Amino acid sequence: MSLDALPGLREALETHGLWAKKAFGQHFLLDLNVTRKIARMAQVGEADHVIEVGPGPGGLTRALLETGARVTAIEKDERFRPLLEEVAAASGRLELIFGDALKADEAAIAGGAPAHVVSNLPYNVGTPLLVKWLTGPWTPASLTLMFQREVADRITAGPNEDAYGRLGVLAQATCEAHRVLDAPARAFTPPPKVDSAVVRLEPRADRPSPDRLTALQTVTAAAFGQRRKMLRSSLKSLGGEALAVAAGLDPQARAETVPVAGFLGLADAWLAAGR
Ligand code: SAM
Repeated sequence: MSLDALPGLREALETHGLWAKKAFGQHFLLDLNVTRKIARMAQVGEADHVIEVGPGPGGLTRALLETGARVTAIEKDERFRPLLEEVAAASGRLELIFGDALKADEAAIAGGAPAHVVSNLPYNVGTPLLVKWLTGPWTPASLTLMFQREVADRITAGPNEDAYGRLGVLAQATCEAHRVLDAPARAFTPPPKVDSAVVRLEPRADRPSPDRLTALQTVTAAAFGQRRKMLRSSLKSLGGEALAVAAGLDPQARAETVPVAGFLGLADAWLAAGR
């Protein structure tokens, strides 16, 4: 059987007696036009290996396979095994792993070669999964990820925007990050309470070292923990005014106004102080 000969997604769900479970953050994309758009945003093709988290009924999986890419899909919900095994048999390029993506060893899955992550992420674990991919040790070739709109805003926001915070600094210090597609709640079955958006992240060549990233997380946690306070006070436990000055920042500035480069400067100053 080829991919074209597979039954439609709604029919496949019905045949296998499957429905969305809230506990697994399941909101399905059953419109192949939408999943094909996401696959296009992922910019993958025959030469590429894609790791997909949460294939569920396999709509995005089918679109990714249509590009010619090889796909490894990690799904926590065992109920989808028979349905996904049909997709695997039809394509010959889909490998299935049943388990928790938070515990997955992507480096072993990728086998030393580059791999792209593409996912309509489950809402309950989307942010921890992103932080795992941003901080390593494994580095994805690219990330094309559907999030709740509010999380997408936090990833891409810059200084002086309400959504600017720790997640945006970490994402933008490690990657070029852009919101590339908006998806209204009605695009999903069942529709979630909020709209969603796809974010595309491409790791920077000058990605900070693991030590620098750990330091970056320490300084952003302190600075944004009290985002309306001046740096000299929010960073008190890390060196306060002296740390800000060493990073070339105004100690009276507030975290929400400091650009990503400023936080990298703070991380360097903190490391240089031997903390
Ligand atoms: N990709 C499908 C689509 O677009 O229609 C389903 C997306 S749904 C938002 C999220 C999927 O992730 C579900 O299939 C859910 O079972 C799965 N999932 C939830 N938590 C997971 C985890 N920790 N590891 C792997 N898969 C998970």
